[in-house]
Amino acid sequence: MSLGPELEAYRAELRRFVAREVEPLTRWIEENDAIPGELMRKAAALGLFGLTIPEAYGGLGLDLDGKCMVEEELGRSSYGFATVVANHTGISTHPIVTLGSESLKRNYLPRMASGEWIASFALTEPQAGSDPAAMRTTAARKGDRYILNGEKIYITNAGIAQVFTVMAITDRSRGIKGISAFVVERGFRGFAIGKNELKMGMHGCTTAPLAFTDCEVPAGNLLGAEGMGYVQALKTLTRGRVTIAARSCGIMDRLIERCTGYMKLRSQGGRKIAEYQGLQWMLADMAVSRDASRALTQRAIDALMRGERATMEASVAKLYATEALGRVADAAVQIHGGMGYMREAGIESAYRDVRIVRIYEGSSEIQRNIIAGELLKDK
Ligand SMILES: Cc1cc2nc3c(=O)[nH]c(=O)nc-3n(C[C@H](O)[C@H](O)[C@H](O)COP(=O)(O)OP(=O)(O)OC[C@H]3O[C@@H](n4cnc5c(N)ncnc54)[C@H](O)[C@@H]3O)c2cc1C
Repeated sequence: MSLGPELEAYRAELRRFVAREVEPLTRWIEENDAIPGELMRKAAALGLFGLTIPEAYGGLGLDLDGKCMVEEELGRSSYGFATVVANHTGISTHPIVTLGSESLKRNYLPRMASGEWIASFALTEPQAGSDPAAMRTTAARKGDRYILNGEKIYITNAGIAQVFTVMAITDRSRGIKGISAFVVERGFRGFAIGKNELKMGMHGCTTAPLAFTDCEVPAGNLLGAEGMGYVQALKTLTRGRVTIAARSCGIMDRLIERCTGYMKLRSQGGRKIAEYQGLQWMLADMAVSRDASRALTQRAIDALMRGERATMEASVAKLYATEALGRVADAAVQIHGGMGYMREAGIESAYRDVRIVRIYEGSSEIQRNIIAGELLKDK
């Protein structure tokens, strides 16, 4: 990725931050399923929570290339911490920045940029996962408020978030054009956040259900106009997919470094395991997967930054990079042998953590559906 000198300097600063501040805490985060407050404060001081928020509202105002650079760097350490930041600065910030009224932006963005308020994005429901259009949560206008009823599940950052972008139906007769987006605050009457889920990986990053029971939301917290929610969610997810691909590249970088280090260190049969061609070829395949993922990710970033729809490029990048990461993580465990299976090496946690990237923000099957749909579309 070719970035200007300012962003390259920020990349170097981030790499130091990840090595000195995040990496030593990865075991603690993994075992306690929480992020230490001190780490959140240090991340805030680096501007990490305001990455994509315009400078006018206290953020760094990075474009997609800068955001993806940060994803790569954070991908090198705790997946849970990386996801807290990625979700907050990605799908949870984008709808407010792009659709929010001036007063909404003034009310929410500065506190989100400083990290005082963490954000969350709520689309998925029990019967509406890969098919979000099947959602049932409703929002009925009543005077100067909307009344929300329904539930959401698997919502990232829910356990620590103050601000939620919530999709709900304002006009069922209009199908997906009747879905709208609202900013809902923790503490609004009728809004309840459930217990944090126990997950396979991604420890430190909370995931919880939400319930809305006659929840009162000020009419001014509607993002854009009624009916803009679904289209906005699709645009937000297209960008999100590219950032997941970028994070996957950073994780692959780290796993490849760990494997080369271990292969040069570990001896068996009277020689370093780095001398065994079987392992060398595994390592070579890991690098090819990583490099191809990075090229596809860059293609998608470039297309989005040129203002193109880039649905195809984003889905290709996410599908390829996340599937490649799955193969790379599996090979990393294999190269480390028994050590790869032990918690102390931190390889098995990466193997568990990265399983999620093939599921959320559109599973691999959904990416294939999108790609085939684009190919088969009448031009
Ligand atoms: C840890 C975690 C964090 C998450 N964070 C968020 C969040 O912050 N906000 C949010 O809104 N959601 C979030 N999600 C939800 C996530 O986006 C969904 O889980 C995902 O979209 C899949 O939906 P589902 O779980 O209902 O699976 P289902 O849709 O039930 O899918 C089950 C299987 O069927 C396949 N399938 C479904 N439809 C098709 C089809 N048309 N063609 C081919 N195969 C198909 C799927 O690929 C999958 O293999 C999160 C999920 C997890 C696990």
